[in-house]
Amino acid sequence: MKDSQITINYPKTLTLYIHIPFCYIKCPYCDFNTYSQIENLFNSYIIALKKEIELWSKPLANSQIQSVFFGGGTPSYLPIKSIKSLMHSIFSSFNLNNDAEITFECNPDDLTARKLNALLENNVNRLSIGIQSFNNKLLKILGRNHSATKAQNAIKRSLISGFTNVNIDLMYGLPTQTINDWIETLDISLNTNPQHISMYCLTLEKGTPMNEWVKSKKLVNPNPDVAAEMYSLAQQKVKLNQFEQYEISNWSKPQNKSTHNINYWRNGYYIGIGPGAHSHLPQKRFWNINSPKKYTNLLTNTQINITNNFLPPVIEKSEHISKELEMAETMILGLRLLEGINVCDFNNRFNINPLTKYNSTISDLVNLNLIYIKNNHIRLTNQGFLLGNEVFSRILENVNQDN
Ligand code: SF4
Repeated sequence: MKDSQITINYPKTLTLYIHIPFCYIKCPYCDFNTYSQIENLFNSYIIALKKEIELWSKPLANSQIQSVFFGGGTPSYLPIKSIKSLMHSIFSSFNLNNDAEITFECNPDDLTARKLNALLENNVNRLSIGIQSFNNKLLKILGRNHSATKAQNAIKRSLISGFTNVNIDLMYGLPTQTINDWIETLDISLNTNPQHISMYCLTLEKGTPMNEWVKSKKLVNPNPDVAAEMYSLAQQKVKLNQFEQYEISNWSKPQNKSTHNINYWRNGYYIGIGPGAHSHLPQKRFWNINSPKKYTNLLTNTQINITNNFLPPVIEKSEHISKELEMAETMILGLRLLEGINVCDFNNRFNINPLTKYNSTISDLVNLNLIYIKNNHIRLTNQGFLLGNEVFSRILENVNQDN
């Protein structure tokens, strides 16, 4: 790491992301930094993660941790003894808020009563279960291991075991998926009574097998108009079931908005631990090397002296974030939230009123019916939710390339 000796301002509050790069199988649509068949790294990887956690404990000694999010990959794939040892390391290294939200991303197949109890005993208080669909034909296209019935049972078991904050991830806009398939998945989802639902439209990512199948016409290309209809249907259905939409892709019961994700959308600060994990601190962002093997070797074979201005030796790249860019990113991320941008909060953070700073862009977007201003908040209109990228690119145009 070349710029390890630099001045960094560590914020008073932040969130932690812990990356677990293991999956049983690599789903054909997934371009995350995750791998199957590297289970031989389980033990050494946990040792390396604990080392990175320990390294961060000194610079973050005065910071308060609001949430910890174990993502991946498939954190629930970890053996119970590894989960225990990781949680012990986190609790003994950082100052966690008493009510810190601690989320584990899970695959339905992993959620046995034994694993659920182990997660509860180790202070995990939120599950995010990768369901994707309750249609077996679509689960097969997505390359998922679980069946619709197993997924329903996993949610039921999670709730019975005592979890009171369970998210399910669903996908729409899938190849061959019909409106009726989607309605069925939504109905089953609502019947299982989760407290939070995230719904994502499939993105065909470059380099993934699914993208190739669609390009070579082995698989039909999903129709974007049907996907838009699915989104609007979902909005109506979940609203009727007392779910509140609080972000473009997220709905929750009133008390169950995700602290971790809200911090991200408010452009808050966070530290990412593990290969490929990204971090955001005042005026700075950086990310770790992708390879779990290199990450593990570097951390387990290197003698490291910790200082206050320290960045771990696994960081691949870091970059300065100018005030201009941080303001634009705060606007773009914040507009994803239904509450939008709180003008006073923005003013307090950057010492400038966003309505002044983005005066002409905001008037154009208001005239195009993509945003509106109410009660000192700037928000996307319904049309703006569908055309978010248009709004975001206009705001980014304000950032001077030299900044
Ligand atoms: S389980 Fe999740 S992280 Fe793993 S390959 Fe599938 S989509 Fe990607």
